[in-house]
This record gives sequence, C-alpha cells and structure tokens, in this order.
Amino acid sequence: MSHDAVKPAGSKRLVIRNIGLLLSGDLDRPILDADTVISTDGRITAVGREKDLDITNATVVDARGTALVPGLIDSHVHPVAGDWTPRQNQLGWIDSCMHGGVTTMVSAGEVHTPGRPKDIVGLKAMAICAQRSFTAFRPGGVKIYAGAPVLEHGMVEEDFKELAAAGVTILGEVGLGSVKDGKTARQMVTWARKYGIQSTIHTGGPSIPGSSLIDKDMVLETDADVIGHVNGGHTALPDDQITALCEKSNRALEIVHNGNERAALLTLRTAKELKQLKRVILGTDSPAGSGVQPLGILRMISMLSALGDLPAELAICLATGNTARMRGLDCGLIESGRAANFVLMDAAQHSAGKNLLDSIRCGDLPGIGMVVIDGAISAQRSRNTPPATRVPEVVPS
Ligand SMILES: [Zn+2]
Repeated sequence: MSHDAVKPAGSKRLVIRNIGLLLSGDLDRPILDADTVISTDGRITAVGREKDLDITNATVVDARGTALVPGLIDSHVHPVAGDWTPRQNQLGWIDSCMHGGVTTMVSAGEVHTPGRPKDIVGLKAMAICAQRSFTAFRPGGVKIYAGAPVLEHGMVEEDFKELAAAGVTILGEVGLGSVKDGKTARQMVTWARKYGIQSTIHTGGPSIPGSSLIDKDMVLETDADVIGHVNGGHTALPDDQITALCEKSNRALEIVHNGNERAALLTLRTAKELKQLKRVILGTDSPAGSGVQPLGILRMISMLSALGDLPAELAICLATGNTARMRGLDCGLIESGRAANFVLMDAAQHSAGKNLLDSIRCGDLPGIGMVVIDGAISAQRSRNTPPATRVPEVVPS
C-alpha cells in the first residue's frame, strides 16, 4: 500500500486558514487565540492571525471554521511488518488508524512477529530490522517509532550500547520476555536509559496465554519510563495497587483502550487529585486479542472526557502534548518547530453537542475532515469517523 499524500506546492509551504478553534495539545494553555497555522518543509513555522501572516506561495487549506488539533499519538501499538498484523490477520490497520486521527505511533514491542527470536543476537537483529523498515515505510504517512526489543535473560550492558548505536530508541514492554523479576529488569532498564533507550513495562494480568502478571511491586522496582497500560492490558491490578503506582512513581501513566475502563477512570481521577495530569498518556495496545481500533484514541478521549469529568480540550492533550513530552517526541503540540501533524475535526453530524468540544463532552466521537502529516495532506474526509458537520477544503491555486 503506497502513501499518496498531497505534498505542499512550491516552497513546500502549507497554510491552514479560517480555523474556528485551535487546540494546542498543551494542558497549561489548551486553546490558542489564532486562526491560521503555517508549515514549511514539514515543520510548523507560524501560528497566528491570518491578517498578520504571509499566506502567499503556499498550498492553502480553508479550514471552514473547523477545529485544528495536533495529530494524535498512539503511545502503545504492536506492529509487525508494514501494514499487516498477524494478530488478527488484518491488512491496512495503520492506514485505518490514520483515518482516526493518529499520525504517530510508538511500538511497545513487535511481539506478534511469527517465530519471534528469543536468543539475544536474534532479538537485536529483529529490533534493528523493525526500526529500519518502519522508518522507510510509513503506511498512510503515519510515523511509527518501532524496533522495540523485548528483554530476555542474558542481555548485558554491551547489548544496549550496540542497540542504541544501531538506532534503537525504545524497549518493548518489560515482562513480555523471560525477564520477569524486578531486580534484573531494573538493571536492564538502567542500562537502556544510560544509552538513551526509553522503556515501558507491562502492568497487570497476562494479556494472552503465555504472558504473565506484573504487579505494582515489580513496576516500582523496575522503574521503567512508562508504566504501560496502568489500567491493565486487559486485566487491571486491584484499585489500591493502581493508586499506589500513581502516588509512588513519577513515571508516565499510560491508559489504553484495550484495558479496563473503570481502572482508566480511577487512574485519571487519582492523577487529577495529585495534580499530575501531565503524566497521563493514551494508547490503544492494539493489535491485540481485542483486535485493532482505528478510532481507539478518539474513543479514549471521548470516554475520559464524558465519564471522567474532563473538559474535551484537556482530554485531547493526553493524546498529544502529554505523550510527546513524556516520550520526547517532536510532535503533539502546536508551536513553531514541531512536526506539522494536524487533525481537522468538527462535531459529527447530528451530535447532540452544541459544538465540537461539547459533543466530545457528551461522549460522541468527533468527525475528522482532514489529516496532515509532516505538512502533507494524508486524508481528507475520514472514511472511519462519523461524518463531520463541516470539512476543510484545499483552495484551488
Ligand atoms: Zn502489555
């Protein structure tokens, strides 16, 4: 499947004007007072009022009063090869997620690879191969950070140094391989961190036959950078263990679609009470036994907003700026210098909500009218969301 994005013309400048609502992805300042965003060569170069900006010599999109939000980030996916997943034997799942507003994905391990090697040279080779192939091939234009090796017994510091030198930046979920004790996991996570490799730990009950329970004591001892699916993947820890992870760690609290929704709401409530909402990030944990969810991140935003008493503009930050900051990504926020990844959305047709934010707060999914990745249009009206009331259009040049 090729990526036939609309590339900006000439100087590779893209202007999006007539934006009705500009959401920044930043919890501290979620709504910006601006109606125009400009990108050059895939990076945001200006955010402001159209009357103050030069919008000539560019591909121009009329947002037609819709909302612009940063491209959504799925913090937890399990890709394997291109746009195919063997987990549910499905093709095109990443492109489908792009139609759900996801412009960036982070692998939590290519663990569904048939015959996944568990010897050390094999697992390193597989991680480097995945890093290379997903850098070179971007289904739907989605940027996928992949090549996430799973920890196995016998790995030594030199292995992490070698992986980092080869371009590996993330570990697969700790606990999915043979390393299932906190002491060994902590040592390996510390080595990874020393060489700039970020770590995530599986939290909760086994996901599929063959994986195992990781409880709060192991999560705290390992001290990985991201507490992966703190709401279980799928089976959640008891409530007191989840609140202990919120209180006793300062690491990212990742909530996933393929987890326990009540535990997700408990995590959100606890993080709010601790005034640590910045730690909460969103993923789907797909493909998995529950399948893939092209609208999974949007569904999490609506669910957390509607049932978790969280204004929609803040819920969107969990899937954008929060994830970008916790994971050190160059996207997720509307500010100069960031990757020009945008989703233009509006209230779905016939939503009971008065406008986009109100419709999300009511629990409805928004309608997507355009997805932009690295300053290029990847999709216009989404084939997967309910239809947006208004959709942007490319202005004929
Ligand atoms: Zn997991």
